[in-house]
Amino acid sequence: MRRTIDRERILFFWPTFPARFHAPTRGRIALVGVGGNLGPVLRRFKKLATILASHPRVRLLATAPILRNPPFGYRDQPDFFNTLFLVQTSLPPRRLLHFLLWLERRFKRERPFPNAPRTLDLDIIFYEECHVDEPKLTIPHPHWMERESVIIPLRYLGEIG
Ligand code: AMP
Repeated sequence: MRRTIDRERILFFWPTFPARFHAPTRGRIALVGVGGNLGPVLRRFKKLATILASHPRVRLLATAPILRNPPFGYRDQPDFFNTLFLVQTSLPPRRLLHFLLWLERRFKRERPFPNAPRTLDLDIIFYEECHVDEPKLTIPHPHWMERESVIIPLRYLGEIG
């Protein structure tokens, strides 16, 4: 199923997106932004959900629908697909970031220039109510409030289940 938001934005509802997998138990709750615009992005998102679900220290609680939306910054590239993963984790914020960066590398993410097309982009949007302001990690993720790639899927995360 798909819901057209406007000429440039479509929300896709597919098996696994959105879905609820587990009720929270113990561990910290984090919201992870997931994006990409190169190659078979949707297949990659599914595979990512499977990998996350099998990590001993990360539990995938829920996913959001997938938003197709135009690129910003560098506009001469394919549309982006974005979703959110709500996870519970015993990894502290910096360890979670390193795990996400490792996953990006595993999915062949490259950084030729800012806002370049990408196979996979993973961001920590929130981590509990933590505020982190370090050179390599800012939580909540800066500008999340202005990013439709976050706020539109986020509206649906609360509705699941
Ligand atoms: P980008 O190339 O835009 O995906 O930026 C990746 C870099 O942003 C990472 O290497 C992190 O050090 C940094 N970063 C800062 N805050 C965050 C965050 N909340 N989530 C993910 N990466 C972050």
